[in-house]
Amino acid sequence: MRAFVVTAPNTGHIEEVAKPVAKAGEVVVKIARVGICGTDVEFFNGSMPYLHDGQASYPIRLGHEFTGTVIEAGPNVDQSWIGKRVIGDVMMGCGKCSRCLDNRQHTCQDRYEIGIRNGFNGALAEEMSIETRFLFQLPDVITEELGALVEPGANAWRVADAAQAKPGKRILIWGTGTIGLMSAQFCIAMGAEVHMIGIDPKTFPLALEVGAKSANTEVQPIDGGYHVVIDCTFDPSIPAKALEVVEPGGRVVLIGVDSNPAPINSRLLVFRDITVVGILSASPGLQQSIDYMAAGKVKLEKLVGATIGLSEVLDAFNGKRPASAGPGPKILVDPSR
Ligand SMILES: [Zn+2]
Ligand SMILES: [Zn+2]
Repeated sequence: MRAFVVTAPNTGHIEEVAKPVAKAGEVVVKIARVGICGTDVEFFNGSMPYLHDGQASYPIRLGHEFTGTVIEAGPNVDQSWIGKRVIGDVMMGCGKCSRCLDNRQHTCQDRYEIGIRNGFNGALAEEMSIETRFLFQLPDVITEELGALVEPGANAWRVADAAQAKPGKRILIWGTGTIGLMSAQFCIAMGAEVHMIGIDPKTFPLALEVGAKSANTEVQPIDGGYHVVIDCTFDPSIPAKALEVVEPGGRVVLIGVDSNPAPINSRLLVFRDITVVGILSASPGLQQSIDYMAAGKVKLEKLVGATIGLSEVLDAFNGKRPASAGPGPKILVDPSR
């Protein structure tokens, strides 16, 4: 089968590789769609911190925002999985340590991350193997396109949950990329008022279309201030600014990360009585993401700019969008093409 392999910084190609075989506890999933995200681009260009601290190394088969259909079930696996449409948890804990047993398997020291950590092959390929304990079955109303958005959507659900979004809350979101726009949708679906800041005004029409009250390049003061500030950028200067902008007693939610540390003044946390929450992964929000999408409470498909084949992935990693791409920031890949 074909898989996209990154062999060195800024170097990748399609390789003919062995088809996966389902071992005990595993199934093989035929990939229908896989999203390309900022993490993949960081792996491609070599800036991803895991490449520098031993958690990942080249060659690497990327792809973690996937959906597909189970085509093979391994020994001891319920054969009724075959034919089911699924997504999988990217973070795969050992299942035995205290963190895993405490439902924090996304923080397991020994975890694999699909297409990211400890050499687990990703979904930028025709097929992929995965243990059934990490699978979520999709209802029919979740299309293949939506299925590939469940994982980033779950990160955004967790952001909105950490922001305690609800009617009466005024929330400022820094960053109008995929996670910013998805987080806006979940915050709005929970009843909050959302304002956005981005560096590219071309993204603002989409921000307003998904329901943001305003979109600007600089923070605009509003009556009563912002109860919550959310950082969905790659800019290490934003967390410090968020602590200054948020209302005293408010919350700051951090999901964006740069390869450089983002220093903050902890005295501000104390004097302004701020709660800061960091979000690492989608894991604890996957079912909620599926449920919100299935109920039509969020329209994440608005963020898809184009769907490409494996042969166009290299261009996408190099920042070249297809000529026909729409305004949405998210590029999906159909590996059968
Ligand atoms: Zn991602
Ligand atoms: Zn564990």
